[in-house]
Amino acid sequence: MNLDTRLLHTVTHVLTESESETKKIPKQVVLYILDQATEYKCGECIYFKTPNRCSVFGPDAEVKAHGGCNFYIQGTRMQGEIPWLGHITKEQAGYVENANGFSCKRCEYFDTKAFKCAKVDETSKGDTPGMIHPNACCNHWEADDDRAKLSTSELRTQISVPSPKR
Ligand code: SF4
Ligand code: SF4
Repeated sequence: MNLDTRLLHTVTHVLTESESETKKIPKQVVLYILDQATEYKCGECIYFKTPNRCSVFGPDAEVKAHGGCNFYIQGTRMQGEIPWLGHITKEQAGYVENANGFSCKRCEYFDTKAFKCAKVDETSKGDTPGMIHPNACCNHWEADDDRAKLSTSELRTQISVPSPKR
C-alpha cells in the first residue's frame, strides 16, 4: 500500500466510523410507541398490582405508581388479574422512578421544536411516521434535567402537540 492508498484508506475508515456513530436507532429496536392517554407509569400498566407491586417482579419487590420499566404495557382494566411471574428483577427490566412520568417530552434526547430525537430515527418504521411525538416513549428514555420535573399541563404550555401520524 503506497502513501496515497494508505491515506485514502484511513480517511474512508474514519468517515465510516463517524457515519455509524451518528446513525440513529430504528423505532422498533427501542420499542417506540405512542399511547396518548398515558405517561407510561406503573399505575397505568397492566402488570401493576395494588398496592405497589408488579406481576413481572413477583410479590417481594416494591414498585411505585410513578415508576416505570421497559416491560410497560398500557392498560388498567386487567390490573391485578395477571399472575405473579417473578422471572426478572427491577434492574434487569430497567425500572426507574419519575414523579411526573415519562414520554419523549421529558426525555433529554427529544427536540421539542423539530419533533425529532437525537437517538431514534424518526423516519424508521413504526408509530408516528416521519416524526418523534412528544407523547410517545421508548426504552431509550433518559430524564431531561428540566422537562422531566414538569407536569403534563406545564409541558403543554411549552410544547405544541402535533396531530399524531400512524
Ligand atoms: S415495573 Fe414495569 S411492568 Fe411493572 S408495573 Fe411498572 S411499568 Fe409495568
Ligand atoms: S426522545 Fe427519548 S423516549 Fe423519545 S424516542 Fe427518543 S430516546 Fe426514546
